Amino acid sequence: MVSDRRLGDKCVFQPFIVQRRQLRTVSAMGNKVFIIALVVALVAISLNNYLKRKGETRYIFHTEWYDPVSATVNKFHLSFFPRDRSVEMYDLRAQRLFLKRIPVEGVEERDLYLGNTIVVLSRQLKITDYADAFTREQITSKRQRTFAMVKPDAVHRLGEIVDVIQSRDFEISQMKMVQLTRLQAATFYREHEGRPFFESLLDYITSGPVVAMELITTNAVKKWRATLGPTDSQEARSIAPESIRALFGKDKQLNAGHGSDSDISAIREIEFFFPSSKINDDLLPQTTAKLANNTCGIIKPHAVSKGHIGSILKAIKEEEFDISALQIFRMDKVQSEEFLEVYKGVVSEYPGMVQQLMSGPLVALEITSGVHGPQTPIKFREFVGPADPVSAPVLYYSLWSSTVT
Ligand code: GDP
Ligand code: MG
Repeated sequence: MVSDRRLGDKCVFQPFIVQRRQLRTVSAMGNKVFIIALVVALVAISLNNYLKRKGETRYIFHTEWYDPVSATVNKFHLSFFPRDRSVEMYDLRAQRLFLKRIPVEGVEERDLYLGNTIVVLSRQLKITDYADAFTREQITSKRQRTFAMVKPDAVHRLGEIVDVIQSRDFEISQMKMVQLTRLQAATFYREHEGRPFFESLLDYITSGPVVAMELITTNAVKKWRATLGPTDSQEARSIAPESIRALFGKDKQLNAGHGSDSDISAIREIEFFFPSSKINDDLLPQTTAKLANNTCGIIKPHAVSKGHIGSILKAIKEEEFDISALQIFRMDKVQSEEFLEVYKGVVSEYPGMVQQLMSGPLVALEITSGVHGPQTPIKFREFVGPADPVSAPVLYYSLWSSTVT
């Protein structure tokens, strides 16, 4: 009986026992599957991240930051990751990570080229070199530099020419109105020495101010030559009617603009007008600024980066003002604070104005006017308008009254 009952018991409970065992097995299997799936997922995620990072584009530059407090120049490797526009900084002197990778506002891939200054967490970092071959190759193929010059016959149409330049996606990274001496002109055009037109070319190019520019874009040298058109303006009008020489030039000599013919010439010509280190003063083209009896206007960095230089220059001319000098500058914090000192403690926007002025290149203009005469500063101030000091595109600065408004 007992055995029967046992048997019976066994018989009665058998299905439940089996079910419980099965359940235990199923739940053990479920746990195992879950753990395996979790491990697989984690491995996949980290592998994916690893591959992403491994294959991720990273540009590395040598940069310098001048610390005004200790009056020292600090050198960093700056890495830029285009995927999420983040940066990482490595202190070269201390040999340690200075800034862990973080996304930074306002630094774009297009800002990364030699000689440019970028702002990372309120520090102005000057890009002095590429730190690896990959960065050099990638950046130079994307961002080639060329030299452009608006010649004396076309300077009065500078606004229109700058409009063409900006509308064709050239970035104007340097710009300066200068008066060339004969020695400077002969040095610049030395490849043409001995040609029949050499002396008359020197007469022409020294006959008034020229505006020198460094332009940056993809294949800048070729693209700028195509934008200029053929040397002879008459020929340009028939074969490239939209070109600068067709639109603004007169003939084979008075042809409105210059463009480097190769990247080697571009480097030489940029260095001639915008030397990276101090050179013999006789050969350095000087600004046309007289810094007396005139008014100064600033095309602010946000208007420059939006490509408004051309339209602002045109508007200035339409109101009968003349631009007697012009130059692109980059201001650091100390210079911006000094320049805007009269606002300090007067307007609440002062910190924003300082931040804005140091955020990128600006165009400083010296304004005169035969039409407005002594009224020029007042008229120019009216022209600029009583706008919000932070967002207004042009800042007025009178050298007569030494006030900024
Ligand atoms: P570019 O590179 O197209 O500017 O031409 P070139 O380098 O050959 O010449 C330099 C500049 O010299 C030209 O832009 C013209 O202003 C001038 N030029 C060139 N060829 C002649 C010419 O045959 N006669 C005259 N009068 N000027 C010329
Ligand atoms: Mg040439």
